[in-house]
Amino acid sequence: MVRLIFFSYICMKETLKSEIMEEYIPKPIDLSDVSLTDDLIELREAIAENAHEIWAENRRLEGWTYGPVRDDKKKQTPDMVPYKDLSDGEKEYDRATAMRSIKLLKKLGYDVVKVQETELYKEMIERIRNNKEQYHCSNCGGFIFKHQVFCEHCGHKLDKTDWEG
Ligand SMILES: [Zn+2]
Repeated sequence: MVRLIFFSYICMKETLKSEIMEEYIPKPIDLSDVSLTDDLIELREAIAENAHEIWAENRRLEGWTYGPVRDDKKKQTPDMVPYKDLSDGEKEYDRATAMRSIKLLKKLGYDVVKVQETELYKEMIERIRNNKEQYHCSNCGGFIFKHQVFCEHCGHKLDKTDWEG
């Protein structure tokens, strides 16, 4: 009897679990109404770069090294390179993730304000500002990066004419 009750409990739990699994629909918060100022776009780049550093450091500790093609058995990946040398797609992924985090902070009512100019800030932001990939949107003149898909300032769909002039 005890076993039967236990068994039905397991069955119930499994049913419950599968119902929950089926019903799960991801609902990311709509952040399209939040815009970022130029200083926050620079912050986004700093966060994206550091996220890559953290990812690469964790991979390195797991024994991963650089390889021209991804090979899970050899633990090789083309992404084990400095952020600036990453593929456009990978950079765009890191940037989009960082941007959504900053936008969410703003949407939740937080304000991100720089209260002092640290040495690290100067080093990181200056490097980002001097990045050859920094361009301006042809529609609004806002700060954009090469291969960025949409302008954050005006929503203009960007293409190579925006960074090739
Ligand atoms: Zn624009």
